[in-house]
Amino acid sequence: MTSEGPYIRIDQVSRRYGPVRALDDLSIDIEKHEFIAILGPSGSGKSTLLRLIAGLDRPTTGRIYIKGEDVTELPPHKRGIGMVFQEFLLFPHRTVRENLAFPLRMTKETPQKIADRLAWVEGVLSLNGLMDRYPNQLSGGQQQRVALGRGLVAHPTLLLLDEPLANLDRELRQEMEVEIRRYQKQLGIPFVYVTHNQEEALSMSDRVAVIHRGRLEAYGERQAIYDRPQTPFVARFVGKSTKFAGVVDPTGGFIKLADHDYAVANAATGLHRPGMAVEIFVKNERFDLHPAAEGRAGIPCVVGDVVLRGPFLEYILETGGRERIIAVQPKRVDPLPLGASLSLSWDAGQCHVFAAE
Ligand code: ADP
Repeated sequence: MTSEGPYIRIDQVSRRYGPVRALDDLSIDIEKHEFIAILGPSGSGKSTLLRLIAGLDRPTTGRIYIKGEDVTELPPHKRGIGMVFQEFLLFPHRTVRENLAFPLRMTKETPQKIADRLAWVEGVLSLNGLMDRYPNQLSGGQQQRVALGRGLVAHPTLLLLDEPLANLDRELRQEMEVEIRRYQKQLGIPFVYVTHNQEEALSMSDRVAVIHRGRLEAYGERQAIYDRPQTPFVARFVGKSTKFAGVVDPTGGFIKLADHDYAVANAATGLHRPGMAVEIFVKNERFDLHPAAEGRAGIPCVVGDVVLRGPFLEYILETGGRERIIAVQPKRVDPLPLGASLSLSWDAGQCHVFAAE
């Protein structure tokens, strides 16, 4: 490994607990300027990966490199990594200043260095005026900033964050997402952020690693993960979609829906051949809705309910079949009335088709 390699390299790492494969042959490279989200459902192996990077646990096989150095056998305090974990709460009986100084006292820094670092972190995280307060004298957002400050105070080469915003209400969480991303860009060190919340992953990160059952399901730029999922799991897990069953017609040119009298062009004829059973995923905001009276091809449906979500409307559509389809549309004009008869369709290029599982 040379200094020109990636800043962090997770190289074919596996972690087994008896018969459980918590992580299975996972490789990820992270560059210095990047904000990486590790996204997956509960139990997929996210925290295991973070513990391995931090040095709180060792891989069964595989290596971990930081700036070209093999750190696989190094203890946590020699890795230069900062951590903000949900369970590492602030000490309630210590002031902000004492909370922030804690990691520096653990590594026995000089009083001068501690003072310098506290001044630095106070400035970066705008903690002026808060340093002598106790945690219960801070707002939720201020507490989060102090927790972040404690992760950053030792000038780590990398910051690991494990669902730090999980307990905040939605509005504060969204504010903190923007703030945390801003700190990462300002500091220029990688943040590796574990979450099961896809909105959080997409709003903050540069690249997203999707983990499923201990395996890396996808790793790429957030927009590509959202727009061009390469596996059914990613199509299902990232964004909100509706799944339809379909079959490729005998010419190979169309995919007919199994449960509806509707067909879309087969955009990937090489992959999806005549007679093949497929599943089609359509993101809820990619549906087209037209009044049934226009007579366009599509799935006949009626508006069962309308949910107002700020600038968007969610139409709950009933097709007479089993599924309830939700179509998301910008709120440009008055909502369509309940009971309106519509035709639901989508562009062939706007859906994701996979061989049926
Ligand atoms: P996540 O953070 O995505 O929720 P984890 O990394 O905590 O997932 O867990 C991944 C898998 O490994 C789960 O099946 C979990 O039960 C298992 N696991 C994690 N830690 C241990 C352990 N110390 N002993 C046994 N199994 C574990």
